[in-house]
Amino acid sequence: MSQTGAALADTTPPSLAKPLVKMEHVSKIFSNGTLALNDMSLTVERGQFISLLGPSGCGKSTALRIMSALGDITTGTIDWPSSRISSKGRPEGDISFVFQEPTLMPWKTVFGNVYLPLKLRGVTKAAAAPEIEKVLKTVGLQDFANAYPRELSGGMKMRVSIARALVTKPKLLLMDEPFAALDEITRQRLNDDVLKLWRETGITVIFVTHSVFESAYLSSRIVVMRARPGQVFDDFPLVTSAERDEDYRTSEEYRAACEKVSHSLQGAIQAAGGHH
Ligand code: ADP
Repeated sequence: MSQTGAALADTTPPSLAKPLVKMEHVSKIFSNGTLALNDMSLTVERGQFISLLGPSGCGKSTALRIMSALGDITTGTIDWPSSRISSKGRPEGDISFVFQEPTLMPWKTVFGNVYLPLKLRGVTKAAAAPEIEKVLKTVGLQDFANAYPRELSGGMKMRVSIARALVTKPKLLLMDEPFAALDEITRQRLNDDVLKLWRETGITVIFVTHSVFESAYLSSRIVVMRARPGQVFDDFPLVTSAERDEDYRTSEEYRAACEKVSHSLQGAIQAAGGHH
């Protein structure tokens, strides 16, 4: 396998491992009549880093919410073949969400914020502490456990949000435009950190972004959605034998990947009427 990261992420051959999420012919109509998704099918295999890309309003967030069982579907099926399903029909504890807003509790320390999902599961603080220390180290915040959110930069708050998502050891990490509000340098650093944790933990990531450059840098697979109706327009792997690092950012291979993604996105926009 030439795909750096994906090869490390899962040693089971893809054909033998059950997918994490299987959406088939899913449609979603909101109560106001908006058809947000129409006949969308997507199978998420373990170890992938998928970027979900598409024009604003094409249903990316809706698709993520459905994948995490936060949103109901109108027609079609959704399955989590690798997960234990709760009595409410949800995958138990296997999926975490990171949003653009870090949504931290200002009155709690970094430690307290990261502890919250474990506290909700009834884990004592003492039992949770080693795991919290570990995830804080993963995101480079080991020295900030006692800091309050107001003392942190935007990038650091986002790291806390990622640590909080990782502390439950999910199989699937859903990220909804997590770095869109950050400056370019911070964004690039966080991109590298997310790639590192993807390689090291073997977690599967679905990353919603508007950015062609970001998706081409991060992903092992690109899923482009079209709007009206929201559905998968294009779906292709981005395989490279190169390490994705600063050198990769200026390589011909990266430039070609950006061009491919950009071309596909243009196609999706035109397919939706070109009004974006
Ligand atoms: P994206 O994440 O690609 O920008 P969304 O999934 O947020 O798109 O939205 C898809 C479409 O569904 C948009 O037209 C949006 O206005 C609509 N939509 C999203 N959430 C709701 C809701 N709760 N009620 C009604 N319409 C919604």
